[in-house]
Amino acid sequence: MTTTEMTIFDDLESNVRGYCRSWPTVFDTASGSWLHDEGGRDYLDFFAGAGSLNYGHNNPELKAALIDYIARDGITHGLDMSTIAKRNLLETFQRVILEPRGLDYKVQFPGPTGANAVEAALKLARKVTGRTEIINFTNAFHGMTLGALSVTGNAGKRAGAGVPLVHTTAMPYDGYLSDTDGIEWMERVLDDSSSGQDTPAAVIVETVQGEGGVNVARMHWLRRLADLCAKRGILLIVDDVQMGCGRTGPFFSFEAAGITPDIVTLSKSISGYGLPMALVLMKREHDQWSPGEHNGTFRGNNPAFITAAAALEKYWADDALQKSTLIKGEHTHRRLSELTVGYQGLSTRGKGLVQGLVFDDASQAGKVTQLAFDRGLLVETSGAEDEVVKLLPALTITGAELDHGLDILAAAVDVICTERVN
Ligand SMILES: *Cc1c(COP(=O)(O)O)cnc(C)c1O
Repeated sequence: MTTTEMTIFDDLESNVRGYCRSWPTVFDTASGSWLHDEGGRDYLDFFAGAGSLNYGHNNPELKAALIDYIARDGITHGLDMSTIAKRNLLETFQRVILEPRGLDYKVQFPGPTGANAVEAALKLARKVTGRTEIINFTNAFHGMTLGALSVTGNAGKRAGAGVPLVHTTAMPYDGYLSDTDGIEWMERVLDDSSSGQDTPAAVIVETVQGEGGVNVARMHWLRRLADLCAKRGILLIVDDVQMGCGRTGPFFSFEAAGITPDIVTLSKSISGYGLPMALVLMKREHDQWSPGEHNGTFRGNNPAFITAAAALEKYWADDALQKSTLIKGEHTHRRLSELTVGYQGLSTRGKGLVQGLVFDDASQAGKVTQLAFDRGLLVETSGAEDEVVKLLPALTITGAELDHGLDILAAAVDVICTERVN
């Protein structure tokens, strides 16, 4: 066995490093739902690059398309120049995603991160409406740049900004308050000229808060939110960076609610292969950008366009993936529900293949993920107190792999949660 040499990371890599502390090994290769470290150990992946690997690691068909493209000297770096790779992606996105859903969005290529897509969305909403304020939600997560942080909930992350984060108001997300769903409060303050709440340019929302602890907004709550925005000329931004690309079942997480956001952000799994890429979709009338008004050096990651188009063709030309995601999600939910019945202080929530195991005693969640790692499973925690074990397997995971991971998780829970319900 090779010895795992970690010294260089401790010596040279900034203290900002995070995941490598939870999973202290040196990874080497990966395929499908498995990672392999340099010591030859295998890890089942219930993390999927925080939702960037919905189709698994090094998906063979996407890899073949990528290798072909590189081998024929296809453009790698293209700023926002027109390329065959980009044309093919736009045509595919229109044919496979937009047209079948009756969506008439224009497509912006921002810088290749979710945070940059969010920055672009906020800028555009302010430009289109001529207003300054943005409404966001409790426990939201939208990224680490200043604009994205200003609409993010977590106090520790916000403190990192080092400057006041202004021109935003956090409203209660669905389920945040027990006696009201928050929409009524929003309507009240928006319609009362003495409430102190200025009419915002936009509301930015996640349909399921991934980082915030797998908080699931109900469909009728989303519909009421969309309605509230439409009636007042407020733009609705759905941040689908993590929940898009099929994570909850359909390609867009808002489809099931029957709403059409004004602006949508996508990143994480949009390249299909874990390559950096992001998109901002906007209703045609909102495309009020001037040329180059939001630019960036790495908007044209053409290898990502190749894998993105291949992923759309392979997984979204029919509804097979959507159906299997919902079936696997229900199975996962059922198994987690069974687990919660056996122990004190456990509950579960989720949608599609984002499922959370919620611990009343937050410290137990981290212990469970540590033990799971020791036993060969990568799974992370989320939520305000890191009280939620967040399951985010690849959508392409097999039934046997899913059960294997759930078995490891159940065994870890059994060790950590000693207070059983008899
Ligand atoms: C991950 C994430 C972001 C930020 O994306 P980065 O690529 O890390 O900048 C924004 N919004 C949501 C909902 C996310 O999950």
